[in-house]
Amino acid sequence: MSMESIKGHSARFAPATATIDGKLNLVGLDMAELKAALATLGIEAFRAKQIWSWMYFHGLTDFAAMSNLAKPVREKLAEHFVIGRPTVSADQKSEDGTRKWLFKMPDGQEVEGVHIPEEDRGALCVSSQVGCTLTCRFCHTGTQKLVRNLGAAEIVMQVMKARDDLNEWPSTKDQRLLSNIVMMGMGEPLYNYDNVAKALKIIMDSDGIAIGKRKITLSTSGVVPMIERCGAELGVNLAISLHAVTDELRSRIMPINRSYPIKDLLNACRNYPTLSNARRITFEYVMLKDVNDSAADARALIKLLSGIPAKINLIPFNAWPGSPFECSDWETIEKFGDIVNRAGYASPIRTPRGKDIMAACGQLKSASLRLSAKEREAQERVMAEKEAGAGLL
Ligand code: SAH
Ligand code: SF4
Repeated sequence: MSMESIKGHSARFAPATATIDGKLNLVGLDMAELKAALATLGIEAFRAKQIWSWMYFHGLTDFAAMSNLAKPVREKLAEHFVIGRPTVSADQKSEDGTRKWLFKMPDGQEVEGVHIPEEDRGALCVSSQVGCTLTCRFCHTGTQKLVRNLGAAEIVMQVMKARDDLNEWPSTKDQRLLSNIVMMGMGEPLYNYDNVAKALKIIMDSDGIAIGKRKITLSTSGVVPMIERCGAELGVNLAISLHAVTDELRSRIMPINRSYPIKDLLNACRNYPTLSNARRITFEYVMLKDVNDSAADARALIKLLSGIPAKINLIPFNAWPGSPFECSDWETIEKFGDIVNRAGYASPIRTPRGKDIMAACGQLKSASLRLSAKEREAQERVMAEKEAGAGLL
């Protein structure tokens, strides 16, 4: 096998971040890409299924433990490839059991992931971008400028690292506390659709991590043109960050509404491919004191959503340093909830989790900074040099 062909594959699969210490990261490749990567080392395609199972079903990171592969094959794999994980810059546990990781990606960029355990299940809140290009006024992540999209590998690796730390391999393990995934961490997932879709397909694969589409919820601030595709291609549950009932207010607190106003957003919801009474859309509504929390707002909300199988999630506003809003009073939230409830909508009030470690909705922010074009060039050069110096290239 020539070095040139390996280099070609490495470049094709991989923006700078898909290699770790100069070796191609197998995490984040789809099956066809995995087969192609193995072919560069002369390893037969049928081995791809075995390796996939070791990686995604058993959670192995060490090729040496892949007992159905011959030793020379294992050695060759280890020489050229890696089964990657982010490193962990911080790992905090809240008094209520919520756990927040600050994951560091191979190029040094950081994102947060949050595990919210319940009695016999639990959700992992996964990030899709470093920062966010949108600037919703109530959101801490929105104050951090977008640094970059995460690659598919970096999205899948958040789930894999959380499973490592929760000791929940293999995928069939009983009573997993990482049973659900919510794409509600940092970033707008529908602005990074291709990577998010690729990652979710890997996560859903029943021979691998096997978290099914009914256990995955993608939350969007309302990127209307991508909503139908998301439903048709991925079939995951949809959550919409609605937060206001008039375009005037919504545009003020969520600038994306100027591009995709409420009427268009709700039409996209009505047409969401998997929508049914059994699979309702969740509408998230953050309770902002004296801004969107009146009884009239609650009644207008019911009217807006009429005809859409929906759940309404009332989220008490979580403050962050310098945030320009206050959370509604508890009685106001309950009154709002009662009105919505009487109209026949489930309207749970989401108990804030992990507030003491700034892990609650809208509190996530990493210290990663946006790089200038020059700085980014320099960073990419360093990564390329690192790769060139390592065994693979
Ligand atoms: N970008 C996507 C997903 C990430 S945000 C989206 O906006 O939907 C996850 C949820 O937290 C969204 O519903 C968001 O509106 C909400 N949120 C943001 N800031 C918040 C805050 N300070 N308090 C409570 N919820 C907040
Ligand atoms: Fe971005 Fe969502 Fe925060 Fe808005 S609420 S700034 S879309 S992460």
